[in-house]
Amino acid sequence: MVTAAPVKVSETDVVVIGGGPAGSTASTLIAQKGYKVRLFEREKFPRFHIGESLIPETYWVLERLNMLPKMKASKFVHKHSVQFVSANGKLSAPFYFYDNKPHECSQTWQVVRSEFDLMMLNNAREHGVNAHEGARVLDVIMEGEKATGVKVQLEDGTVEQVNAKVVVDASGQTGMLMNRLKLRTWDPLLNKGAIWTYWEGAYRDTGRDEGATVVIQTENKQGWFWYIPLHDNRISLGVVAPFDYLFKGRGTHEETYNEEVEKCTVVKQRIAGAKRVTGYFATRDYSYRCSRVAGDGWVLVGDAFGFLDPLYSSGVLLALKSGEMAADAITDGLAKNDVSEAQLGNWGEKLNRGIDRMRRLVCEYYEGFSFGNFVRNFPHLRGRVTDLLIGDLFEDKVDEVWDPMETLYNETKVAPRMWNSGTDPEIAANKVNELFIPEGAKP
Ligand SMILES: Cc1cc2nc3c(=O)[nH]c(=O)nc-3n(C[C@H](O)[C@H](O)[C@H](O)COP(=O)(O)OP(=O)(O)OC[C@H]3O[C@@H](n4cnc5c(N)ncnc54)[C@H](O)[C@@H]3O)c2cc1C
Repeated sequence: MVTAAPVKVSETDVVVIGGGPAGSTASTLIAQKGYKVRLFEREKFPRFHIGESLIPETYWVLERLNMLPKMKASKFVHKHSVQFVSANGKLSAPFYFYDNKPHECSQTWQVVRSEFDLMMLNNAREHGVNAHEGARVLDVIMEGEKATGVKVQLEDGTVEQVNAKVVVDASGQTGMLMNRLKLRTWDPLLNKGAIWTYWEGAYRDTGRDEGATVVIQTENKQGWFWYIPLHDNRISLGVVAPFDYLFKGRGTHEETYNEEVEKCTVVKQRIAGAKRVTGYFATRDYSYRCSRVAGDGWVLVGDAFGFLDPLYSSGVLLALKSGEMAADAITDGLAKNDVSEAQLGNWGEKLNRGIDRMRRLVCEYYEGFSFGNFVRNFPHLRGRVTDLLIGDLFEDKVDEVWDPMETLYNETKVAPRMWNSGTDPEIAANKVNELFIPEGAKP
């Protein structure tokens, strides 16, 4: 895979591949402890990325990163709640995060990712990370099972070999090590696609609801729209549905999107009179996870470890949390000269349990779960279900919701299968996540 001989060989403590939220988080927290970190990002920032809605539990990682003053001073819209609209247009009462947890962490943000990711990367630099843009990692160097560094093509075209005690793969859905070591397990249930665009002058709520994410079920109940208010009077509006439904035997992305909007009165009313300001973006977003979070000398964080359907906006939280957990394991390991899989991956089980909880709530929604109905039947569990929505995923208390949820199942319904319960190899072989970015303006 290596295209040219390295012209320079250097040493560092930790190399991070990718400058998205997971890479910035891990690198900042490792540099905070005084270790030498080099981060390589193949793009020049600011660059477009999807994933605009944050959830409140990101607060605690942002606090450790010293990002809170920057977030507070930014133009990002304040988000206090999430609201669900059912296929027949019925609105659930908003789930206000503050009512559940009266703390400033309950106000989060709707971010434009090109701006947020640049802030995070510059913040990493301020903490001592040596971050390179336009620098593509070509290969991870392995000695047997152990990662010992990377070969990277720098912006000027030269290739450098960087030896490191630990390599952190934060390359997002590119998944450098996931692909090389064949670690990916496709989720058997979550096979979705998305089409989205950006609008100016669409309907905006006011006051406490100004920044709410609204999740609007499609009329056939197979999918949902995200309605995310951004700054500068913009709205991000996308439709998510089963991949085959959205992309097989349909027209262009524009035609399919417009057909779905046409069928959804709530969405149609919200964008009546608004102006579309970008082309149509599309993605296949099959959910997946890796069978391991780490090996000797290497660690996976963010989407390079796993991707979960975006229904509850958990992607950036999971990128931040895995970046944080990995950084702690790495700095503890470096301090005692232990970069074994057991040390570097000692947080994997905790992360997986948290993702399992969010995944279960996602699967329940696609199988007909109604937040409104649940809260009507179990008003005392409103807080617990809100805990899940804010991303408080790593404590057993949230498991209180599953048994009551099952009592609302109809006779034929069973609990969703686990993410690693198996996918037909022929189906798995044909899966690939792709992103289509249109020409022209991008947020
Ligand atoms: C349709 C959709 C909607 C979503 N909505 C939300 C949402 O509302 N809220 C939310 O929290 N999440 C959302 N997500 C998820 C979110 O986008 C991701 O989970 C998040 O961006 C993961 O961050 P990351 O740092 O792991 O990866 P990324 O942000 O993808 O960063 C990876 C970086 O690695 C770089 N890279 C890749 N290969 C190399 C290489 N070889 N060398 C150097 N650099 C490399 C890339 O250029 C990239 O900048 C959504 C996802 C989808 C598909």
